[in-house]
Amino acid sequence: MHRARKRFGQNFLIDDGIIHAIIRVINPKAGMHLIEIGPGLGALTRPLWALTNKLDLLEIDRDLVAYWNRENIDGIRVIQGDALSFDFLEWAKIREKESIVCKVVGNLPYNISSPLLFHLVSAANYISEQIFMLQAEVVERLVAVAGSSDFSRLSVMLQARYHMEKVLDVPPEAFDPQPKVNSAVVRMVPRKDFMLSNHEWNALEKLVAAAFSQRRKMLRTNLRDYLGKIPLSEAQLKSRAQDISVGCYLEWARVLVNP
Ligand code: SAM
Repeated sequence: MHRARKRFGQNFLIDDGIIHAIIRVINPKAGMHLIEIGPGLGALTRPLWALTNKLDLLEIDRDLVAYWNRENIDGIRVIQGDALSFDFLEWAKIREKESIVCKVVGNLPYNISSPLLFHLVSAANYISEQIFMLQAEVVERLVAVAGSSDFSRLSVMLQARYHMEKVLDVPPEAFDPQPKVNSAVVRMVPRKDFMLSNHEWNALEKLVAAAFSQRRKMLRTNLRDYLGKIPLSEAQLKSRAQDISVGCYLEWARVLVNP
């Protein structure tokens, strides 16, 4: 009997309807290269395996790793490790050789979701799709459009790299133990038109962090170090970070690196 560990964000899915809705979104097929972050006791793992017969699991909790090793299921490879330091690029590079579909999926521990999403960006060129359950509030920020109150640093940075879509709302009752917050499932597809060099991406990170540093302040204040370096119109100087489109931030990052 496994006791859920709070420090690993263990809220196990128990609602069959929700589990199958998530599996339908993942749409697993034999031959796919699939990794599940945090399999826990297997709510998603078992139906995923039933449809693919081959699956990688990345789990930090040694007791759960031991559980999966004892289960010893043909086609399941268990990796003990922290998703925040796992080399997803190396894992996904198989695509270069075999051009197969690579998906990263999971009901993620909520305490690490933002850093994990940023960590995964480095592998985005090789990943076909990511499907994650996250705290609903984070999903709202991921899919927010410019001008809305949820539009934030997270929205700009991740929309610059992925097309994103909220696909499912999930209430606390779907889990045991129940989390205190609502959850939602997001589908993230790396953008094929993403063109930024590493240098430009770093410039974008700094610029967006500065723009959102004080949400209520105008860009004239938050971007005072950038005045004269990026083409800010009078109207933009008087606007706030959440009113600027992702495309505009991308353009400014390019101008900063290639003046
Ligand atoms: N997939 C299972 C489910 O839906 O019932 C469990 C989901 S539970 C919300 C999160 C899972 O991620 C747990 O199994 C937990 O041990 C694992 N986990 C937590 N932090 C992790 C990390 N840094 N790297 C890898 N796995 C982690």
